[in-house]
Amino acid sequence: MIFASTRDPGDQVDFATAVFRGLAPGGGLYHPLQQPDLSGVIAGFTAQSSFNEIATELCYRLLGDELSRSQSRAIVERAFEFSPRLAPLGGAIQLLELFHGPSCAFKDFGASFLAACMEHFLSHRDRHAVILTATSGDTGSAVAQAFHGRDNISVVILYPSGRVSPLQEKQLTTVGGNVSALEVRGSFDDCQRMVKEAFVDRELNRQLVLTSANSINLGRLLPQSFYYIWAAAQWRAVSRQAPVFCVPSGNFGNLTAGVLAWRWGMRVERFLATTNANDVIPEYLTSGVFTPRPSVQTLSNAMDVGNPSNFERLSALFGADVEAMRRCIEAAVISDAETLATIERYYSRSGIYLDPHTATGVLAAERYCQQHTRTDPAVICLATAHPGKFLEVVEQATGTRPMLPAQLAASLERPKRATAVESSAAALKQYLLGTFA
Ligand SMILES: *Cc1c(COP(=O)(O)O)cnc(C)c1O
Repeated sequence: MIFASTRDPGDQVDFATAVFRGLAPGGGLYHPLQQPDLSGVIAGFTAQSSFNEIATELCYRLLGDELSRSQSRAIVERAFEFSPRLAPLGGAIQLLELFHGPSCAFKDFGASFLAACMEHFLSHRDRHAVILTATSGDTGSAVAQAFHGRDNISVVILYPSGRVSPLQEKQLTTVGGNVSALEVRGSFDDCQRMVKEAFVDRELNRQLVLTSANSINLGRLLPQSFYYIWAAAQWRAVSRQAPVFCVPSGNFGNLTAGVLAWRWGMRVERFLATTNANDVIPEYLTSGVFTPRPSVQTLSNAMDVGNPSNFERLSALFGADVEAMRRCIEAAVISDAETLATIERYYSRSGIYLDPHTATGVLAAERYCQQHTRTDPAVICLATAHPGKFLEVVEQATGTRPMLPAQLAASLERPKRATAVESSAAALKQYLLGTFA
């Protein structure tokens, strides 16, 4: 498979190069140049196929020119010590639970696969790399967990002091081993600026292999298609009709991975994308005009994205044709009040906790089924985070607290380890050279 930049079709690279570059040099995103037809392979999966079997086969079929079948298997086994689950929610909706990994959110799938791929490529080239990541709280923990204990890789996470939640800080600062946390006296923007400056510093890049594990990395996008295809195989034991996939969206990476799976031959009735008040893509689907703007804060804060970067990939998949995108994707915008009411309703009716992101999807899925008078199993709604990860919001809605998942509870017990640094590029450079050069 060959990958090209969304902004420069002449910039064509293999998977390994795309993984270590993250962003293409011209600022574009790497994207498959051509979509393979895997409909035969996908039709061969059954409800008995395990997630890792499906992931191994897809990894090999997609990346076979760079990874043998046994290498694909080894990477998948190393990446996924956790699995998705498909569980009925009631009515016509099933939840695809993607929160059983180490950071209790779907981003674990992408981050873990990326980590296992980098580890594989580095060990074959006998090199060491330093992953640099700035986080405002949430994405950093998936990266920290995913890269913990990987050979030939060190991770440095920058976070703004005093501006992440206590639980988030614990998740970032208690991993240890090859994962270091830098507590920056400054804002998230300062952290991001420091990382950007490190990536363009000639001296640093001469001495170290610096790379990122950003959510736009191709190595995080591709594996997200695996759980759609796994769920579609499970679905065959539930219904003869193709499912609707409902996807709570922010940067639209998760949705893009689903659309890729569809292009490769997975049967889908429709995609239903939900957003909170940050409704740039729903607006595009209505008006045909893409107008990014500053994000607004909501209760489903991992979806607070005002300029969804994966729009470039989505648009490429539909040849920049909004009509074609509309035939495949329908969008719904869910307010904070509706999110809270949905969490409350499921809790008081059936004792089920939903996290605020998943709740936007569940409400949109209910409305879809009403409109289309569907009562048979119809929708697979992606449950993107464990409700225990968003305790405050769930408590606001229900008056009670869900259990903290064991992974998160354990991090609260461990001591915080962080190095305080000034918010300057020079301070980061000094730290990196002093630690790794
Ligand atoms: C990141 C995230 C989302 C949004 O996913 P995108 O791929 O950015 O659209 C939704 N829910 C949760 C819990 C997240 O962490």
